[in-house]
Amino acid sequence: MIEIKEKHKCCGCNACVQICPKRCIATNEDEEGFLYPSVDKSVCIDCKLCEKVCPVINQAVARKPLKVYAAKNENEKVRFNSSSGGVFAALAKRIIEDEGIVFGASFNEKWDVEHIGVEHQDKILALQGSKYVQSKIGNSYIKAKSALKDGKKVLFVGTPCQIGGLYKFLRKEYANLITVDLVCHGVPSPKVWREYLEDWIEKEMKTITPEAKHDAFHLKNVSFRNKKHGWKNYSFALKLVEEKCSGLQNEFELCEDYKDNIFMRGFLNDVFLRPSCYHCCFKSFRSQSDITLGDLWGIENIVPQFDDDKGVTLVLINTIKGNELYLQIPKKELPIFYKDALRKNPVMEKSVSRNYKRCLFYSNKKDADLTKRIERAINLKFGDRVKNFIYTKTNSLINYLKK
Ligand SMILES: Cc1cc2nc3c(=O)[nH]c(=O)nc-3n(C[C@H](O)[C@H](O)[C@H](O)COP(=O)(O)OP(=O)(O)OC[C@H]3O[C@@H](n4cnc5c(N)ncnc54)[C@H](O)[C@@H]3O)c2cc1C
Ligand code: SF4
Ligand code: SF4
Ligand code: SF4
Repeated sequence: MIEIKEKHKCCGCNACVQICPKRCIATNEDEEGFLYPSVDKSVCIDCKLCEKVCPVINQAVARKPLKVYAAKNENEKVRFNSSSGGVFAALAKRIIEDEGIVFGASFNEKWDVEHIGVEHQDKILALQGSKYVQSKIGNSYIKAKSALKDGKKVLFVGTPCQIGGLYKFLRKEYANLITVDLVCHGVPSPKVWREYLEDWIEKEMKTITPEAKHDAFHLKNVSFRNKKHGWKNYSFALKLVEEKCSGLQNEFELCEDYKDNIFMRGFLNDVFLRPSCYHCCFKSFRSQSDITLGDLWGIENIVPQFDDDKGVTLVLINTIKGNELYLQIPKKELPIFYKDALRKNPVMEKSVSRNYKRCLFYSNKKDADLTKRIERAINLKFGDRVKNFIYTKTNSLINYLKK
């Protein structure tokens, strides 16, 4: 039976929970804000299915992509609403044209991120765009399996660990399944995301009127990758709406350069990622996905004539099945070398470092102000920088020796 002794050995894919015949595995959020499974031993029949489907226990082998492209969606509006070049939306459209179903990450009514399945073209927009929060898989593997058994085409998109978990859960090849994973930096804590939103809404309301009532305000839009000021210098954008008694609405917007936004700074400085992301065992295309998508950072040096600062997707074709689907979508594309893409995106092969900043952030619970906690973790004092250096190097050495 599954027992989580070291947190970094669970990526939170939920495969064990969904396979358990006794439904005796629950998931609970830990103090850092990540979900982990825990077994009710009084009900468990020790069938070991949960261990058999765990993609961390049963790791796959590393691969190299068959083909690599720089690609853009031909529809400029779709590309604008996507994080990179909008290739995901083109793949999703093709599957839905064939009456298939597309699984991906969407915001729910509380602005948490979760996986859902969509079957209509007008629902693709909800999946478009990167949400830099770990998405809840819930029972989407079960739903995908049921659709596959019904003979539907299924496109399942997620982080490499979510795709790795799906394959282990299915335990069988399906000709009608196509999987797409993302080049993955790591996933931030859903709890930190919730805290960030609450803090921002609270502060924003106070600037409007000190007596502001919570229920008069609601969040209307969230974008981690707004392209208003370009794709390379993207913005983090939130929109808050105030419902007036008169029936009128007031809109308040936050649109910050990603380098200035405190949540994005914490994310990109690896302050509150899931522990498994610092020891990711899905690097080098181990998820077994058919296609991998990412941002083609560095395009201005690889093929400058293809760069218009509106977004280019890095497309890595991993299987013949993936290639067949990719050939069917309309797009603008150019073949490129894998080594050129890797230069600006080393996370394809290497995890980010678990560092001292993270310990500082999570140990500093007395200070309620999230912004200050993140700032303190990022802007380390000299003594802390030395400790961070030693901590990071020691961790890298331990990891190396463990291999
Ligand atoms: C947490 C995270 C980290 C990433 N790190 C990198 C990186 O370091 N380097 C890089 O090149 N690219 C990274 N990406 C991928 C990149 O941001 C784009 O998603 C990718 O380039 C595809 O762009 P697109 O325009 O074709 O599609 P998009 O319209 O951006 O659609 C992307 C797909 O991502 C899925 N998705 C969105 N958020 C999540 C989530 N939280 N969990 C699972 N699936 C999700 C959506 O369902 C959608 O299917 C990351 C994405 C995420 C979600
Ligand atoms: S061993 Fe079987 S019954 Fe027990 S938790 Fe795992 S899957 Fe469930
Ligand atoms: S990695 Fe997935 S299958 Fe393994 S224990 Fe964690 S949630 Fe369960
Ligand atoms: S870095 Fe690895 S463990 Fe973390 S979300 Fe991405 S694939 Fe999963």
